[in-house]
Amino acid sequence: MDAPVTLESPDCLVCGGRTFRTVLRDVRDLVWRKPGTFTLQQCDGCGLVVTRPRPATDVLGFYYENAYSGEAQDGMRRFQTESGLMRLINRYRLAVVQRVRKLGGEDRLLDVGCSYGGFLRVAREGTGCVTAGIDFDAGSIERAVDKAVTEYRTGALVDADYAPGSFTVITFFESLEHHPDPVAALVRARELLAPGGLCVVEVPNWGGFWRRVFGRTWLPLLVPQHLVHFTPATLRQAFEKAGFRRMERQQTMFFPLEGVASLGLWLGRLLRMPPPGSKPSWRTPFDVSVGLGLLALYFAFEIPSQALLRLVGAAGHQIAVARRD
Ligand SMILES: [Zn+2]
Repeated sequence: MDAPVTLESPDCLVCGGRTFRTVLRDVRDLVWRKPGTFTLQQCDGCGLVVTRPRPATDVLGFYYENAYSGEAQDGMRRFQTESGLMRLINRYRLAVVQRVRKLGGEDRLLDVGCSYGGFLRVAREGTGCVTAGIDFDAGSIERAVDKAVTEYRTGALVDADYAPGSFTVITFFESLEHHPDPVAALVRARELLAPGGLCVVEVPNWGGFWRRVFGRTWLPLLVPQHLVHFTPATLRQAFEKAGFRRMERQQTMFFPLEGVASLGLWLGRLLRMPPPGSKPSWRTPFDVSVGLGLLALYFAFEIPSQALLRLVGAAGHQIAVARRD
């Protein structure tokens, strides 16, 4: 399996700057194990960190094949819609939104990058709001949950013909960093929001503690699927560039799937560098014992460490809520 060769190096996606400095080299896809070695660069003008050069839009599909859907679909669907971990994370997301404004039956919520609809289910059951979802990945939408009550579409937000002003809340959970032009996606979200509507973005936090410790084996890096790596400051700049002038809330986020999982990737890279294109394997007694050790560490360490990092504002994920004027 050869890596597609179509790469592009666009100007800065937030400020339009043309000069960058390299901040991380030799970054590989350690999760889905797609081939290719990537570099992360930081804009001299605004500080935005991006995967650069990056796969061109027309070959991005290659990096998603059998990853977010396809072969991994059944397990991933169960994880996203039924696992205790994802239900916990989705309830946390909803709680952050509701700290800004309580949602109810009159709210119309669009989740961009909705995958199988796990968050939409939690939001609808928790508040009675009307739900819609859109995702680039046809495999996820095909098998999305609650199709009788949630309107789903496949494709990119910028191309979708929703009526302007037709939503009161638009959410991007771990999805804005996948958009080739995140500012254009936020501009489109702003057009689709009714006046006073909320735009909610959750992305990894490049400024977080574990990213500094683990570097290229930091789990939320997910290169090359992640094209942009926001800090709280650059995320705020992206919102401002898209015309959102009021930030209602911005915080780092409790997300208990970071430190121990990054340690697992680091160990995997240290002990046995997987050849590019190979599938993850947990079949040998060695793999199983390392896995069990990590699982024990997870229960002892991950939740308290995430709570602590959240308190000091250095967790590896962040969530921001902006209001349309
Ligand atoms: Zn810039």
